[in-house]
Amino acid sequence: MHDHDDAANLKPATRLIRSGRNPELTGPFVNPPVVHASTVLFEDVAAMRPGGQRYVYGRRGTPTSEALEDALADLEGAAGVVLCPSGLSAVATALMSVLSAGDHLLVADNVYGPGRHAATGVLARFGVEATFFDPMDLDALPGLFTERTRAVYVESPGSLTFEMTDIPHVVAIAHARGAKVVADNTWATPLLYRPLDAGVDLAVVAGTKYLAGHSDVMIGTVAANAETWAALHATHEELGLCVGPDDIYLTLRGLRTMAVRLPRHEETALKLARHLEARPEVERVLYPALPEDPGHALWRRDMSGASGLFGVVMRGWSAARTTAFLNALRLFGLGYSWGGFESLAIPAGLQRSVMAPPPPAALIRLHAGLEDAEDLIADLDQAFTVAAATV
Ligand SMILES: *Cc1c(COP(=O)(O)O)cnc(C)c1O
Repeated sequence: MHDHDDAANLKPATRLIRSGRNPELTGPFVNPPVVHASTVLFEDVAAMRPGGQRYVYGRRGTPTSEALEDALADLEGAAGVVLCPSGLSAVATALMSVLSAGDHLLVADNVYGPGRHAATGVLARFGVEATFFDPMDLDALPGLFTERTRAVYVESPGSLTFEMTDIPHVVAIAHARGAKVVADNTWATPLLYRPLDAGVDLAVVAGTKYLAGHSDVMIGTVAANAETWAALHATHEELGLCVGPDDIYLTLRGLRTMAVRLPRHEETALKLARHLEARPEVERVLYPALPEDPGHALWRRDMSGASGLFGVVMRGWSAARTTAFLNALRLFGLGYSWGGFESLAIPAGLQRSVMAPPPPAALIRLHAGLEDAEDLIADLDQAFTVAAATV
């Protein structure tokens, strides 16, 4: 790992440019080859024995997958990283790596909706019991552990409502009780926050969002600390997960520019957030980068920046008015996912078991893309005018 050895004292933006390159395998090219492979040929039968050859089968790794895994392991400060075919499959793989039949799982109430369903669906069918908890009330968390609690699953800031969770505090509570911590770090990416440094055991990223960054790839990643790497690696392998080489290549390509894209997403999101806060129709903007956000102190303490995704609570709006606003937007596309170059909006489909969420009918989620902020602000303003005409 020629390029890794001297990387230790380089800054993250520099490492993002250089990491994952291995000239021994991929020659002098800046980018790795896109290796399309199922079968890999062996020199002789002896080479087919375990450890006999570096590459053995397409699913088990290629120079392309290793380049992205190595780049991410460097960024995450991880013992190892696995690639999954989507962010959701990465969540499920992480949970399955540390849970077995009969175990108990604590799930923060504000995790990504389909992640909840993985916990209460397939994991429940395989004998794992899930309990939801309020990540804003960590005093109550120790009381929710049972003899069988083996993992805590958190996401900060939370999906759709953007509450910051004190992850080091969750880690201290969980580790004192012999449980692992799985953190979904999609919002911050490992560039702005490194969960493993905070003691998290498995850090999940929906690479579909900012890692790939161009709305054209589905991919997920899980990074493990040294104690959890063997379990993650084995589970990933036993589930037969792998990602197509073109998608891996596009994700590595996206990663190279992430340190340039993220600050622009943040800058534009802050401009939009401040403009929205000043509008009389807006009750509250949910974005920890705002000084008045309840999570701001934690965000400042733990993260080195913000991404471009935030929530807006409209003052007393009906679902009909929210719908009229969203339909009137021209530059913000209506669409799921985020983290690409374009601005997006969705009505928030909130699912909560124990937290008290803002009124879902009046909540929208915005992604600030890489357009000019003034154009985006004008788009929001004209949509407010249209919405005002709706009962
Ligand atoms: C989008 C998202 C996921 C799932 O990623 P996919 O690639 O769409 O499966 C997981 N967690 C969070 C926080 C997300 O926003």
